[in-house]
Amino acid sequence: MDFDVLYIGSGQATWNGAVPLAQAGVNVAVVEEALFGGICSNYGCNAKIALDYPVELTRQVEAMQDHGVTGDIEIDWADAMAHKHELIDPQSQHNEDRLTNAGIKVIKGHATFVDQHTISVSGQTITADKIVIATGQRPHRLEIEGAEYVHDSTDFLSIPEMPEHVTIFGGGFIALEFATIANAAGAKVDVITRSNTYLRSFPQKYVKLVVADLKQRGVRFIPSQEITSVEAISDLAGYDEFVVYGQNGLELTTDYVLDATGRIPNHDELNLAAVGVATTDRGILVNEYLQTNVDNIYAAGDVVDHDLPKITPVAAFESRYLAARFMGKSDAPIDYPAISTVAFTSPRIAQVGISVAEAAEHPDLYRVEDVDYQSDWFRQVGNETQAYLTLIFNQNDVLVGAAEMSHEAVNSINTFVPMIEMQLNRTQLQRFIYLFPSIEYTGQRRL
Ligand SMILES: Cc1cc2nc3c(=O)[nH]c(=O)nc-3n(C[C@H](O)[C@H](O)[C@H](O)COP(=O)(O)OP(=O)(O)OC[C@H]3O[C@@H](n4cnc5c(N)ncnc54)[C@H](O)[C@@H]3O)c2cc1C
Repeated sequence: MDFDVLYIGSGQATWNGAVPLAQAGVNVAVVEEALFGGICSNYGCNAKIALDYPVELTRQVEAMQDHGVTGDIEIDWADAMAHKHELIDPQSQHNEDRLTNAGIKVIKGHATFVDQHTISVSGQTITADKIVIATGQRPHRLEIEGAEYVHDSTDFLSIPEMPEHVTIFGGGFIALEFATIANAAGAKVDVITRSNTYLRSFPQKYVKLVVADLKQRGVRFIPSQEITSVEAISDLAGYDEFVVYGQNGLELTTDYVLDATGRIPNHDELNLAAVGVATTDRGILVNEYLQTNVDNIYAAGDVVDHDLPKITPVAAFESRYLAARFMGKSDAPIDYPAISTVAFTSPRIAQVGISVAEAAEHPDLYRVEDVDYQSDWFRQVGNETQAYLTLIFNQNDVLVGAAEMSHEAVNSINTFVPMIEMQLNRTQLQRFIYLFPSIEYTGQRRL
C-alpha cells in the first residue's frame, strides 16, 4: 500500500485528524481538487464572518446613537471585500503548508474510486489501507430555466460591488445571514421561500423577531412561492437585470439572484459504485464508528448522512475521533457532546443542547425558563433592545439546553456549552466565578 490513511478532501473533516495522525508517524495522504482547507476556510464561515463584522459594528453604533455616540457610519463594501480577500486569499496556501509540514503527502486533483483500496487522480492510481471520504457538500441549485443567471454562496462572498437589488432564494442560515449583510451594505433585498418557515432548526419565537427586524430594515420576505424561471434582460448600456418568475404570479425585477436553497453532498462523482459504498441523497451512510459498509472506507464531516448540524465543529470532532481510532487510542463508538449552533443574523440566534421545540414537546421531562435580558443593566449599557435567553433544565435541575437571541448570543451560549456537557446541576453551576461586568457573568447569574 502507498499510504496507511488517505483522505479525499482537505476541509475540517480531514486536517483536524490528519495532522496529528501524520505527526504520530502514520503515513498519510490528502487529495484535494480545489482550495486547501475546504469550504469553511475559503468560501464559508471565515469569509462570511469577515464580511459580517462591519455589520455588527454598525449595529452597535446604531444602538448607541444618543447614548454617547453620534454620527452615522456606513459600510464601504469595496473596502470590506478588500479586507476579506486580504484575510482569506492566503488561507489555502497556509492550509496546504500545514499538511506538508506535518509530513502529509498532498495530491492535487479529483479522486475517484477504482477499488476499495485504490483511488485514481488524474490517471494516477494510489493505494491506501484506509480511505476517509471527507468531500463535504456543494450548493443545491434550483433546476429552473435561467439557472445560469443565478449565483451561489461562493459567488456572493466575492462580489466586488454590492448590487442595488439582491434577491435570495431560501430561508436557511445562509439565506438569512446573507440577507442581513446585503441589507446592511445598502442593497434592497428580497427573500423568497417555498414555505413560510425560516431558520427551521432555531427557536421560532426568536426567528420571528429577527425576521421582523429585517422587515423593518426593508428586507422583503416573499413566502409560499415556487420559483419557475429567471430571465436576463439588458438595457441599452448593456447593464443586465433579471426577472424572477414564480408560480403564484410573481414577477420581480432585480440585479442579482442568489440561490441559497440548501446544500447537497459531494458523493456522486467518486465512482462509489465501483466499491459499493451505501449512500442516500443526504450523504454517505456510516455506522457509529464513522465506517461505511465497506470496512476500510470511512466518511466524516458534511458528506455524512446523519441528523447532526453540518457545521465546522462537528466535522472537526469527527476528524479527531477518526484519528484517535486509527492511532489505536480508542475503539469506542463516536460519542457526540452537546452541539451548539448559531445563525449569524443581527442579532444572532444561538443554541446548545435540548432545543426549545423539544422541551416544549416534553413538559414532563423539561422545565423552560425565559429570561428577558432587556431589563438587565449590563445589556442596557449597550442599549441592546432585543435580547432574550431560554434555559432548559431537566427534572434533576441539571441544565440541558440554552438558546439566546442577542448580539452577544455567541459568547453567551459558549458559556453554557461546558455546563451542559458536564451535566451540572444548578447548585454546581452557581459555583463558577466569572469576571464582572461581563456577558458571561450576566448569563451565569440567571442560573
Ligand atoms: C456560506 C457558508 C457559511 C458557513 N458558515 C458556517 C459557520 O459560520 N459556522 C460553521 O460551523 N459552519 C459553517 N458552514 C459550514 C462549514 O463550512 C462546513 O460544515 C465545513 O466546511 C465542513 O467541512 P468538511 O471537511 O466536511 O467539508 P468541506 O469543507 O466542504 O471540504 C471538502 C473538500 O473536499 C474537496 N473534494 C470534494 N470532492 C473531491 C474529490 N472527488 N476529490 C478531491 N477533493 C474533493 C472539496 O474541494 C473540499 O475542499 C458554512 C458553510 C457555507 C457554505
